Amino acid sequence: MRFHVLTLFPEMVLQGLNTSILGRAQEKGLIGLHAVDIRDYTLDRHGKVDDYPYGGGAGMLIQAQPVYDAFQSVAAGRRLRTVYVTPQGKPFTQKMAEEFALEEELVLLCGHYEGIDERVLEEIVTDYVSIGDYVLTGGELPAMVMIDAISRLVPGVLNNETSAQTESFSNHLLEYPQYSRPVSWHGKEVPEILLSGDHRKISRWRLERSVERTAAVRPDLYAGYQARQEAILSLSRHKREHIHMMEMLARGRGELLYHKGGDVMLYDRRSGTCLITAETEQGGRSMIKMLADPSASDLKNLQWFVVCQEFLVLVLKEAFDLHTSYQCCQACYTRKEPLAVRHKDIRNLDESGKAFFLEHYPYGDESYFKDRMASGFLYGAYVEGKLTGFIGLHDDGSMGMLYVDEACRGRGIGSSLEAYLINRLRELDWTPYCHIFSDNRESRLLQEKLGLYLSKDTIWWLGREAGMESGLSLSRQT
Ligand code: SAM
Repeated sequence: MRFHVLTLFPEMVLQGLNTSILGRAQEKGLIGLHAVDIRDYTLDRHGKVDDYPYGGGAGMLIQAQPVYDAFQSVAAGRRLRTVYVTPQGKPFTQKMAEEFALEEELVLLCGHYEGIDERVLEEIVTDYVSIGDYVLTGGELPAMVMIDAISRLVPGVLNNETSAQTESFSNHLLEYPQYSRPVSWHGKEVPEILLSGDHRKISRWRLERSVERTAAVRPDLYAGYQARQEAILSLSRHKREHIHMMEMLARGRGELLYHKGGDVMLYDRRSGTCLITAETEQGGRSMIKMLADPSASDLKNLQWFVVCQEFLVLVLKEAFDLHTSYQCCQACYTRKEPLAVRHKDIRNLDESGKAFFLEHYPYGDESYFKDRMASGFLYGAYVEGKLTGFIGLHDDGSMGMLYVDEACRGRGIGSSLEAYLINRLRELDWTPYCHIFSDNRESRLLQEKLGLYLSKDTIWWLGREAGMESGLSLSRQT
């Protein structure tokens, strides 16, 4: 991802962001930081960029022309997502950071003095963002705050993406208290459970502390969390049919767009997936009407619908151009005990597995491989040091991509890969689940063998673009 910062103080931005994690991310080429000095674009002989505001009043304003030319030096006529940082903007949130992290390029415009001539803002700015209800002397610190928060969501920037998934705000809760060595300090002990090594109990304890903390200091966030818990409860009446929606909510992913009784609609921006279930066609119709509203700009990355009832397929086809349709059943692992993993050499897939992955997984391209690798949930099975199979977590949260080399099939490598992934997910107290094409008998048998429960009802994956086949289904090719 590339950031272009239009500023009067480029060195402040460059110096402020070139150390530690963001410095390394730049060295690795995961993010690019480009600071443009607005002053370089003034036509004034003395390098002046500001002037008095018409109508009087205190202070000076940055003029339109140098800002516009500095912008065009980057955009060159392209329409780029351009944020003006201003106390008059929408408050910056983690959700916004997630949305900006999907952009390939982002322009940040920093004001100074009393601000910037309105006319150039009207021409180039797409978003107005404030970092809080206070006034700073310039936009450089707000731009840096935004770049920091956005960059750490770019795959690969944090070594372990699960840390971004479990920290404050990521599941609408504040983070739980954390402790490091020594075990005893100033007479205070680290809570015993954290020393127990029982990952599931630790996850539960952490969740409880997060809930307590959020309820105490952020009732606004807590209300959102409670709404999600209520939706999970409604969905749990048909757990096997709704596990994908329940897990998305429980893992803090996706936004609850609507919930009333058995009608629930979620949207996950990261994977561009909208999940819908409805009790009646009428309920479904009114939810889908909300989606078709062009002002629902939050949905602009929307690529997939996953729906639980056939009538929703018909209603969606009336409202959207749909080019791809798959029928699947869901399988989920709800048992407590970890699964035995017979094949021992299973580890995280790294760059060295890219060619093998791309050769054998036809539904994902290089960027999907990188994204899944960075998620920390893409595993390879090795036989005598040679990569022979893989499995991973799709960006919507379902397990999938299972593949084993033909020559090595029948040795339990596929079931070991899936058992391994299931165990990792159970450690996080997540319920592992996958989507299987309804006619994939082989995969259904594997799920049953491993102790997963299959849904009775079908779910439909509907794609808005032809050939948009990544991000779907387990075991097309076990
Ligand atoms: N006169 C402006 C107003 O009342 O909205 C304030 C100008 S401020 C002194 C100078 C610049 O700092 C702004 O143009 C903006 O880019 C930046 N700035 C100040 N406070 C900010 C905040 N809370 N969030 C984002 N940007 C801010």
